[in-house]
Amino acid sequence: MRVFFIGFGQAGGKIVDMFVEQDKRSQTQSFRGLAVNTARTDLMGLKHIELKDRLLIGQTVVKGHGVGTDNVTGARVTADEIDSIINAIDSRGTHDIDAFVIVAGLGGGTGSGGSPVLARHLKRIYREPVYAIGILPAPEEGRLYSYNAARSLSTLVNEVDNTFIFDNSAWKNEGESVKDAYSRLNDEIVRRFGVLFRAGEVGKAGVGEMVVDSSEIINTLRGGGISSVGYAISEKVNPRTKQQKKSLFSSLTRSNKDKTEQVLTGEDKSAKIIALVRRAMLGRLTLPCDYSTAERALVLLAGPPEEMDRKGVEKSKSWVEENIAGVEVRGGDYPVQSDYIAAVVVLATIGNAPRITELLETAKSTKEDVLKSKEKRTTMFDDGIEPLFE
Ligand code: GDP
Repeated sequence: MRVFFIGFGQAGGKIVDMFVEQDKRSQTQSFRGLAVNTARTDLMGLKHIELKDRLLIGQTVVKGHGVGTDNVTGARVTADEIDSIINAIDSRGTHDIDAFVIVAGLGGGTGSGGSPVLARHLKRIYREPVYAIGILPAPEEGRLYSYNAARSLSTLVNEVDNTFIFDNSAWKNEGESVKDAYSRLNDEIVRRFGVLFRAGEVGKAGVGEMVVDSSEIINTLRGGGISSVGYAISEKVNPRTKQQKKSLFSSLTRSNKDKTEQVLTGEDKSAKIIALVRRAMLGRLTLPCDYSTAERALVLLAGPPEEMDRKGVEKSKSWVEENIAGVEVRGGDYPVQSDYIAAVVVLATIGNAPRITELLETAKSTKEDVLKSKEKRTTMFDDGIEPLFE
């Protein structure tokens, strides 16, 4: 899939910077990346996105210092400068892309406020789908972050075609601060979504047994709402090439014993793939949620071509189908030159995620507390003393 990533705000910029780095090293080169921010220092800190692909907005309002966790200002500045953002996207070329993906931390100011505004305009202008990867703040970051995230997410889900959630609190370790965890968490994000968004691109390793093209990803995500992604990686796989070459060569004089060995090898490959897909879905998801409420799913395998197995993919798809609410499970594989097999399971359009419910409740109570304290402040000087002037 050819993806145009837009990293909005600090977290978004850093993550897209990593996608761009990953893409430079990959065999397909299918990503394009742009970073948008109100803070000059954040943009200067990026390493892989070219300088011309870093866009500073809101200079007249915040003078390059960022919006300071104020997502209303983030949204306003984005709306004011939407033309220059769209021009920047347009001038990088959009004719060959399959989707836009906006990446942002939803608890802050710039990305939190700006992403839904940008999504609305992208959807209005382009025919390609617009997705978001939204990062949820950990509760320890404070109620303002949760409030911002709840407001941003509630707006965003109505503006994009689908929102992938990554929950910082589910991924940081006990006792570790969120900031200390950033680089590890970002690695996790880029690894998962890298496998997903690179699907359908043909690299040097050739074409898959069961090809997944971008329309399958798009159809999986068509239901909207929020989605979560599972991932698992195999042990280092033993390069089978030699053994396989030998069995190919000896196939002319193949005995019954050889045939049995080949069948076992096939079953072994299927079993390995099924186990990996189970591990991906039952392990830690980007958003912990009840997978049985997912409306659709996508199962993806990436790895050395000799390890890919059609039967394994088919069986894992059936297993996923038995375990989710809906019946639409798509999937396939694509070969990459690697010593590992990676499995990605997209659980699309989730019906129940306790973390989201909790976030929305925190936001509601925060709003009530803010209103109460505002009321107190206005009544404090409401004692009949006339001000000097009106
Ligand atoms: P913005 O620049 O105003 O959009 O705000 P930030 O991106 O700095 O922060 C918004 C949210 O993203 C907060 O909840 C942060 O904890 C989170 N965040 C910031 N940087 C990173 C990062 O590198 N990785 C992850 N996973 N989260 C981050």
